[in-house]
Amino acid sequence: MINFESQLARLEREGLRRHRRVVSTPQGPFTTVAGKAQLSFCSNDYLGLANHPALIEAAQRGAATYGVGSGASHLVCGHSTAHEELEQALASFVGMPRALYFTSGYMAALGVIPALVGRGDAVFSDALNHACLIDAIRLSRADVHRYAHLDLRQLEHDLAQSKASRKLVVSDAVFSMDGDLAPVPQLLVLCERYDALLLLDDAHGFGVLGSAGRGILSHFELRSARTLYMGTLGKAAGVFGAFIAGEAAATEWILQAARTYMFSTAAPSLLAVALLESLHLIESEDWRRVRLRELVDRLRRGLADLPWQLSPSGTPIQPLIVGDNRECLALHEALLQRGIWVPAIRPPTVPKGTARLRISISAAHSPEQVDRLVDALRSLAAQANVVHEQRALSAP
Ligand SMILES: *Cc1c(COP(=O)(O)O)cnc(C)c1O
Repeated sequence: MINFESQLARLEREGLRRHRRVVSTPQGPFTTVAGKAQLSFCSNDYLGLANHPALIEAAQRGAATYGVGSGASHLVCGHSTAHEELEQALASFVGMPRALYFTSGYMAALGVIPALVGRGDAVFSDALNHACLIDAIRLSRADVHRYAHLDLRQLEHDLAQSKASRKLVVSDAVFSMDGDLAPVPQLLVLCERYDALLLLDDAHGFGVLGSAGRGILSHFELRSARTLYMGTLGKAAGVFGAFIAGEAAATEWILQAARTYMFSTAAPSLLAVALLESLHLIESEDWRRVRLRELVDRLRRGLADLPWQLSPSGTPIQPLIVGDNRECLALHEALLQRGIWVPAIRPPTVPKGTARLRISISAAHSPEQVDRLVDALRSLAAQANVVHEQRALSAP
């Protein structure tokens, strides 16, 4: 039989066992965990919409109109007027001919990639791509060429060598644990040169980057029929779900072939109604993105000279690289003691030896809250330095 106890004990020994903390409040700068308020830098609710009164009201209106359950998959009888309106609104927002709404980003990836490629085809994938892309590529059974993070030379070499008739390049648009951007213009040039399709997973760019939050393509002012754009709606959009947008024929093919679209119940229509409201706020309230940038700059200035390095990132994802799993956990615990919650991200989510505090900034934070985090980390860094110096002094 499988020895679960010893497997769990190994996770514990390596500082890799994860524990959930139970939250009893909505997402926001402060969340209550075990009766204690924690200033949170964990959530991907970058624009502060997850608890917005207009979205709550829309969800309630949606429930009153459509009930709670959607009853079946989109292809049977689960596709409502709200879903239809949302897909059209999403397509026009990102400037693509058509969009399809999926229940989550993970489901979108698992459905879309195997619908595009199969045995004998080739997929080219950045080494730091999100887990859902990696799993989806495996599921497709296509040959995988994994290139080092952002390594365009390796990508070009692999594309040039490939004899596959169908080639797909897959990349996070904003890398989820590092906050850096994929070089999308250069990726597109390579896709043109080697006749490949480009799938961009913009889970962290949608709502945040580009004009009015239209995402990575708008950020780089790009438009291409070779691109499939995937956005998720549980992060900056503050609700739930995901979508894929592209040319009309490509999206129609995905509708016909994506098994997670076909064989899974449609998300509740009330979410689509809330998302229509969210899209409206994303588009009209530029101040949220302005504030986000100001807070990110403030954090980076505050943490510039710590012993732990802040990754080069201009997005709301600001990882502080600690390295060692246990040291990272200790730092996370010390912050919790001070009423500040920042997740400790460890392998296999990130490469070995790069455990980090993943600081997420939201437009809902105040400058004073960012300062509180900066002050806490600076004082912990001072203590860590004392420990290191004492160790150095007592060493033979
Ligand atoms: C969060 C995330 C996903 C998954 O989206 P969900 O809607 O949460 O399932 C996909 N890709 C990336 C890069 C992500 O960060």
